[in-house]
Amino acid sequence: MDEFVFPRSLPCQTCATVAETTFTCIQCNNLAFCDACWSKWILHIPGAVGWNGKPHEKADPRVVDRLRQILEPTRTEQEHEAELLEDQDTTWFGYGRDASNHPQLYDYGRFAAIVAETQTEQMGERYPQLASFIGETGAGKSTLIKLLIDRQDLASPQGSKYYSPVTSSNQDRISTTGDVHLYADPSTLYATSPLLFVDCEGLSGGEAAPKQLRQTQDSQSSHSTANYSRRYATPRKIEWAQTPQTQRREFAVGQL
Ligand SMILES: [Zn+2]
Ligand SMILES: [Zn+2]
Repeated sequence: MDEFVFPRSLPCQTCATVAETTFTCIQCNNLAFCDACWSKWILHIPGAVGWNGKPHEKADPRVVDRLRQILEPTRTEQEHEAELLEDQDTTWFGYGRDASNHPQLYDYGRFAAIVAETQTEQMGERYPQLASFIGETGAGKSTLIKLLIDRQDLASPQGSKYYSPVTSSNQDRISTTGDVHLYADPSTLYATSPLLFVDCEGLSGGEAAPKQLRQTQDSQSSHSTANYSRRYATPRKIEWAQTPQTQRREFAVGQL
């Protein structure tokens, strides 16, 4: 069996060369051009502009491919579930209920873990910065964070080696994540002020449990120790949740 080689780029649509890297033109139906043939194409001659009033842009086909994978992921349901399972490691804190059904805050220690894992001996005091993404369910918060993280090695065919959110396709309107997840910006990871992205569960998600929680909810109530046995969580009673209104999941998501 031949070893699979990741296709670097398509043959030039004009001269058919495969000897050099070709660029994709998004506005020309994703046609591929080598550098020499690019500017000879009728829609690329000097002065020609596209729908945005600018000349067509030479796109790296690998980058185009990776962006498509982020925006419109193609994967099986099993692959998606495996990604969601792995993403549980990025949970910072979440909302759950104790045995008497009283709301609790669960702290999974993600913030301390990121800072501790990236601490080196030369570093003095560090001042992590938090960038929170808050918005309606389905607005694309996770996609935005994923682009910010994955863009740092978009050309890598295997995908980003850093933790980044699991995104849903457009058709999927159930919130993808429960809880609040924390991701590190790779470019500032070892800096004095590392930038951390906070991905919050979407507002207006209602009382319906998000996709990620439903996976673990089949036999037990969410956030029982059995479901999250892989990680240690510190529970804290939410003292202000005293009325039926304030005890609702959606209320906590909106306030926290
Ligand atoms: Zn060519
Ligand atoms: Zn073009």
